[in-house]
Amino acid sequence: MYIGIDVGGTNITGGLFSVEHEILKRAKMKSRAKDGTAAIMEQLFKVISELKGQSSEEILGIGIGIAGIIDSKAGIVRSSANIDVVNFPLKEVVEAEFHIPTYIENDVNVGVIGEWKYGGAKGYSNIVGIFVGTGIGGGLVLEGKLYTGKIGAAGEIGHIPIDMNGPYCGCGSKGCIEAYASKTGMEQYINALIKHQHKSSFLTRVEENNGRLKSGYLVEAIRVKDTYAIEVLDYAMEKLGVGIAGVINLLNPDLVVLGGGVMEALGDYLLPKIQASCEKYSMPELYKSTQFKMATLGDDSGIYGAMNIASQR
Ligand SMILES: [Zn+2]
Repeated sequence: MYIGIDVGGTNITGGLFSVEHEILKRAKMKSRAKDGTAAIMEQLFKVISELKGQSSEEILGIGIGIAGIIDSKAGIVRSSANIDVVNFPLKEVVEAEFHIPTYIENDVNVGVIGEWKYGGAKGYSNIVGIFVGTGIGGGLVLEGKLYTGKIGAAGEIGHIPIDMNGPYCGCGSKGCIEAYASKTGMEQYINALIKHQHKSSFLTRVEENNGRLKSGYLVEAIRVKDTYAIEVLDYAMEKLGVGIAGVINLLNPDLVVLGGGVMEALGDYLLPKIQASCEKYSMPELYKSTQFKMATLGDDSGIYGAMNIASQR
C-alpha cells in the first residue's frame, strides 16, 4: 500500500492507496502552518499515523507534495511558503519517524502528475498543467517525464511576466499572469472598480467581504449576468490566454490541462475565453495542434500525484 499526502497552507490531506492505486481511506487535518515547523510536522505525522493505522498491509512508500522549491532528489525543502525554514530535510525527518521510504515533490507538480496519471491529462506525454485559484500554479510534463528544471522550480507559469508596466505581483516582479488572472489579481481589478464608484450586486458582495473575492461570488454573478463580473473575467482570461500562448509557442505541448478553484467553479464558461485569447496570440499551427482540457480530480489531484511518486521509485 502507499500513502499520498498534500501539505497545503490550510489543510494537510492524505490518502491510503492500494498497490493498484485505488484510494481506500482518507485523512485530513488543519496544517497549523502559522504555528511553525514543529506544529506542521506534528500534524503531518498525525495524518500519516492515522492512515498507516488503517492499513492492513505493509506501506511501501509515502509521497508528499508541498509548496515551495523542492529538491526532490535530495528530499529537501529548499524554501516554502508553508514551512518557515530553508533547506529542511523533510524526506529524512519522515523516514526517521516511520521507517518507510518517502519521496517529496512540489505540490503543483504532484497535482499535474495526478491529472497526468489518473485524471484529465491521462494518455498525453507533453502537458502544461495550470491551476487557477488564489494564485496560479503550473507544472510541466515533457516527453513523458515531469520537468522540474535546474533547482526544481520549473513550471512557474503564473509568474511569466506579460507586461513590464503591469501590476505588482506577490513574487516581487510586475505584470505576471498571476497578477491578473488569479483570484488575488482579479481582486485588484475589482477593488479599483469599487474605488471608482462603480456599482453592482457582485461588486457590493466583494466590498462587504473586505475586498476579498470568492469563486462562489463569480458563479452567482455570471448566473445573473452581472456586467462587472463579466468584464473582470473577460480581462483576466484574456491575460491568462496571452501567457498560455507564449507557453504553447515555446513548448508545442499536446495538452493544456486547467484546474484549480476558479476553473472548477466556472470552467465551462472560462475555457472558451482562454482558448479564444490563446488562439489570437499564439502561432496558428501551434495553437491548432494543442488540446485544452479541464482537470478532473479536483482537490484529489495532489494526493493521487503524491501516491504516484511513492509508487514509481
Ligand atoms: Zn509573479
